[in-house]
Amino acid sequence: MAMQREVGVGDFVLLDKIDLDSFMKNLQLRFKNGKIYTYIGEVCVSVNPYKTMNIYGQDYVEQYKGRELFENPPHIFAIADSSHKVMKQQGRDTCIVISGESGSGKTEASKIIMKYIAAVTNQDSFRNPSGQKEIERVKNVLIQSNSILEAFGNAKTNRNDNSSRFGKYMDIHFDFKGDPIGGHINKYLLEKSRVIHQQPGERNFHCFYQIFCGASDDLLRKLKLTRNPDNFFYVKQGNAAKVDTINDRNDYREVTNSLNTLQFSKDDQDTLWRVVAAILHLGNVEFDVDEDKLILKKGQSVNNVAELLKVEKSDLEKALCERVIAARGDIMRKEHTETEASFGRDAFAKAVYDRLFAWIVGKINDAIAVDKNNYSAQYKSSLIGVLDIYGFEIFDNNSFEQFCINYCNEKLQQLFIELVLKQEQEEYNREGIAWTNIEYFNNQIICDLVEAPHKGIISIMDDACKMTAEKVTDELLLEAMDKYLKGHKHYMSRQTKPPEKTLRHKIDFRVTHYAGDVTYCIIGFLDKNKDTLFQDFKRLLYNSKDPNIKEMWPEGAQHISEITKRPPTAGTLFKNSMQALVQNLQNKEPHYVRCIKPNEIKSATAFDEERVRHQVSYLGLVENVRVRRAGFAYRQRYDRFLKRYKMISQFTWPNFRSGSDKDAVKVIMDEKRFADDVKYGRTKIFIRSPKTLFELENARNDL
Ligand code: ATP
Ligand code: MG
Repeated sequence: MAMQREVGVGDFVLLDKIDLDSFMKNLQLRFKNGKIYTYIGEVCVSVNPYKTMNIYGQDYVEQYKGRELFENPPHIFAIADSSHKVMKQQGRDTCIVISGESGSGKTEASKIIMKYIAAVTNQDSFRNPSGQKEIERVKNVLIQSNSILEAFGNAKTNRNDNSSRFGKYMDIHFDFKGDPIGGHINKYLLEKSRVIHQQPGERNFHCFYQIFCGASDDLLRKLKLTRNPDNFFYVKQGNAAKVDTINDRNDYREVTNSLNTLQFSKDDQDTLWRVVAAILHLGNVEFDVDEDKLILKKGQSVNNVAELLKVEKSDLEKALCERVIAARGDIMRKEHTETEASFGRDAFAKAVYDRLFAWIVGKINDAIAVDKNNYSAQYKSSLIGVLDIYGFEIFDNNSFEQFCINYCNEKLQQLFIELVLKQEQEEYNREGIAWTNIEYFNNQIICDLVEAPHKGIISIMDDACKMTAEKVTDELLLEAMDKYLKGHKHYMSRQTKPPEKTLRHKIDFRVTHYAGDVTYCIIGFLDKNKDTLFQDFKRLLYNSKDPNIKEMWPEGAQHISEITKRPPTAGTLFKNSMQALVQNLQNKEPHYVRCIKPNEIKSATAFDEERVRHQVSYLGLVENVRVRRAGFAYRQRYDRFLKRYKMISQFTWPNFRSGSDKDAVKVIMDEKRFADDVKYGRTKIFIRSPKTLFELENARNDL
């Protein structure tokens, strides 16, 4: 590694002193000098530059292709390459886990990784032109799927103009030559409440604005829309329809292109935009009470919704105003109260959008599925998984969604702790090197607080949801949580001992997350966890004349009397999906990108020391360096070490003839009098002080 003092060290393990101050100094120095990437061993720390960097072009691809980490300055390309190399050479499944808080650059990082992989694969394709075409198609589809997913799954929040509102895990499958042949996307809990409500300064999902700006006049007419989003309640609450950094018109065009590339048929695209428009109109449906009877306020909205969803208007009206219930074998209709009706309408809008999103992901998966005919089992195939989730976030008002998102981040932090420590420990054991324990904060206690059976928050919530009485309220849920969690170090509310005065009575609770304290408002937790949608809506959509919509709602076929089982709650589903995700990642060789947000104002120059220091602390980066060093700043396989340094000794240059690589390395280190500073493992050399490495590098440069 080049030792350029003026831009700091490229690997934090090379710092003279390992503490938060030195870490910060190095990180800041590098950021100021435009060096946004720095390693901790094989972990890549990335600081969001908030400006276009000229470091992702073909010249950089060439520089990093097939190279070892230490041969080049730190770059995310090197992590992607290393992941690809391990996968290709050893046939092992690998994954790249990208973490960091909202706005720190995870989604950009995942796209850079995918583009790099696309750029370095399929290079000897001239020998097999038909294979080449398929691989090029797969690469194209993988990359273009991003714009569709972002249009429907990302939104402007107060922390990030393009914030991921769903978690995404993408497997990319490769053939034996290391070329991509397909993929699969898993999505995690979409923040569907955004469909009906946005905080001030925030927007609904991008697609809702793209349509107003990008759709042709003809399409708008068909969708019963005008160019102005301000007439629609579901998109105007945040009062932020226009965003400087977003060009909705161009984005619409890009999404349309991508939809075409991914072979969404004309009908599919038609469904897609009709559903989006239907939701917009649904948001304008209002209720009234006339002589004790619930009625729909006059207006075109209901007609538009029915037409766009291709359902009977009278069925829609019924589903909005009443519900069918089965009680003791009898089937009855029950009219909604005005509150129930509004709740039902919003639940309907959320569910329709959520299903639409799932359907889109399903279609993308169809387009990128590995073609089993082309790639039969005789081909050894491995994969790289890329994880890009919603980052840890704190808003003025935090609800069930933030609770899930932050829990997800806890799980990933836990995985990082497990894998990074475990790997190190295993390596030392494997190599026969003594291991020193490093102190670090283990957030398992917070994961337990959320997910433990019986006493975890999710479990307490589920118990409250199971009570049939309608009397169970959010306040009672909070009481139950207080009862079970009173003594917990990471939980507090107004009720706990000692009482927390800054929290509102019967409304707030606070979790001390690994990344900071978050105050959650309990109101809405029960409903969001139950996630009920009246059966009437499901039946309505199942009976849509649009086959795509019908396909999205298979359970609408069920008769009311057949529905007996309570579906699992949203919290439990999310918990299960997180546990499955962690298990999946554990079975792969992990590569880590740790993203850091340099400031809150999206500035390319500002380095908010306090905020960065906080992130470095909670991400456990300094501990990571310590663990990585554990007395050894550097370790390398003997063959690779020799390749790099054999020219500095007359005994090994050009060739060492009297023994193994390990013997050769010993000869070099003895000759240069470094023997006291190193340990020889079974396959690797371990060097204690960075100074030795400096001197080795200097010896090389002096030649
Ligand atoms: P969230 O958790 O909210 O989804 P995130 O970590 O995915 O956040 P990104 O959307 O990747 O954050 O990044 C936020 C913004 O920062 C981007 O829209 C872009 O403007 C800028 N940015 C991030 N990484 C880079 C980069 N490598 N080069 C240039 N700009 C970047
Ligand atoms: Mg993101």
